[in-house]
Amino acid sequence: MAATTPRTALAWEYSPAPEATDHIRLRDRYELYVDGAWRPPESGVYEATINPATEAPLAEVAQAGNADVDAAVAAARAALPRWQKLPALERGKYVFRIARLIQERARELAIVESLDGGKPIRESRDVDIPLAAAHFFYYAGWADKLAYGLAGRAAEPMGVVGQIVPWNFPLLMAAWKLAPALACGNTAVLKPAETTPLTALLLAEIMQEAELPAGVVNILPGDGSTGAALVRHPDIDKIAFTGSTGVGKDIQAATAGRDIGLTLELGGKSANIVFDDAAIDQAVEGIVNGIFFNQGHVCCAGSRLLLQESVAEEVIEKLWQRMGRLRVGDPLDKNTDVGAINSAAQLQRIEALVDAGEREGATRRTVACTLPERGYWFPPTLFTDVAPAHRIAVDEIFGPVVSVLTFRTQAEAVEKANASAYGLAAGVWTDKGSRALAVARALKAGVVWQNTYNQFDPTSPFGGYKESGFGREGGAAGLRPYVRIR
Ligand code: NDP
Repeated sequence: MAATTPRTALAWEYSPAPEATDHIRLRDRYELYVDGAWRPPESGVYEATINPATEAPLAEVAQAGNADVDAAVAAARAALPRWQKLPALERGKYVFRIARLIQERARELAIVESLDGGKPIRESRDVDIPLAAAHFFYYAGWADKLAYGLAGRAAEPMGVVGQIVPWNFPLLMAAWKLAPALACGNTAVLKPAETTPLTALLLAEIMQEAELPAGVVNILPGDGSTGAALVRHPDIDKIAFTGSTGVGKDIQAATAGRDIGLTLELGGKSANIVFDDAAIDQAVEGIVNGIFFNQGHVCCAGSRLLLQESVAEEVIEKLWQRMGRLRVGDPLDKNTDVGAINSAAQLQRIEALVDAGEREGATRRTVACTLPERGYWFPPTLFTDVAPAHRIAVDEIFGPVVSVLTFRTQAEAVEKANASAYGLAAGVWTDKGSRALAVARALKAGVVWQNTYNQFDPTSPFGGYKESGFGREGGAAGLRPYVRIR
């Protein structure tokens, strides 16, 4: 018999595969979107939004001040009676139309999301934009079936809702907020984050294309002071916020004593728990997805990796090998796994926490890679020898940094996972269904994934416990914060 020729390992070299941007037409300057029209800010102030991968300016964007917040809230208030009275089926059709238009402009939206925020095009193309459309489709379906979603209770819309979104999933967070609000008959004033306003402004164009009645959705780019003014506006009926726990607490204090609705989706320090009976290679992929997806700028990122001692060494070694194959660089390259850090300020926060990790005695390993000369970058980083009290085990880093802790028993895993001020999400890697269910029940986390991580679906509610906030977004549960039960 002829001997089989031994196979030789193939050396894979990826050629650059940049997404073309020549069909994207951004305006030089974006105004505020109020009462169905574009209007300049009262203050006359515009700020450049930049590409964090190159530091090149993309467009000038109006910054809304107090007078603009007044105008937007007044427009939303004036639009409310007609929007509320519209037959629910008709309201649903508008929401459906928005979903269709997002799909039609998906490629453009994905590119602009990556340009403005630094995330890999593969993620904005395959996750952010399709999920944003899916949220509008999903809630379009609820518009005329609210009674079923609310267990038959009579309900009315909250009224005018103020919505403040962060920079990590700009269009998707806008969709999470606007889709249920509109389906339930509310009108809205949305403030995108200062560093990523562009897709929200393209969404305003979509609202115009969908011929959504003027004033139903108003979009006010600005900084934290715009958000603070919106929160404190006396004619707001509800605030929905996603962002840092610090700002969430400020909002909670500012709304205390007022009869308004509030939902807060805040930070996290989520535990990703690997038991010794898990499929290790699959778990390693899940760990990578859990922490390096979107550069770790994910509120539910699996940033605390809890490994059972008997497999810890094997998992760490395999993880480190896998991290070495992550491609860090141009967000518009279709091969890129880890893009740019969203802003100089966020890069500084990550660097400060990583320095603290080293100072406190944890062992740091950072992937060696050539980073672009301009822009904000942080290579994938792994910390071992981490003590539960270290800042890198306690504070949300919101970057591509994972801290490894170990445990011996299931009870210890649960205790360590729950020993956090946060309670947003968790992952459980095990071959045993009974163990997965028992651990999931014992975890104080809004979402628990088994043998996977970072899976999102509009039908599935999302939200936290403890300092991760309260209220649910997504699913039928996501309708509840947008109605007042009579
Ligand atoms: P913020 O909480 O400051 O930003 C979230 C949104 O709130 C932005 O639109 C922001 O505007 C706005 N905002 C800021 N201050 C106020 C205020 N006083 N009242 C109302 N709205 C306000 O987050 P950062 O951008 O500062 O990020 C800091 C840290 O927060 C990150 O390192 C991360 O740990 C965490 N974070 C968590 C997120 C999550 O999804 N859970 C999302 C983003 C951040 P502007 O952008 O103009 O400042």
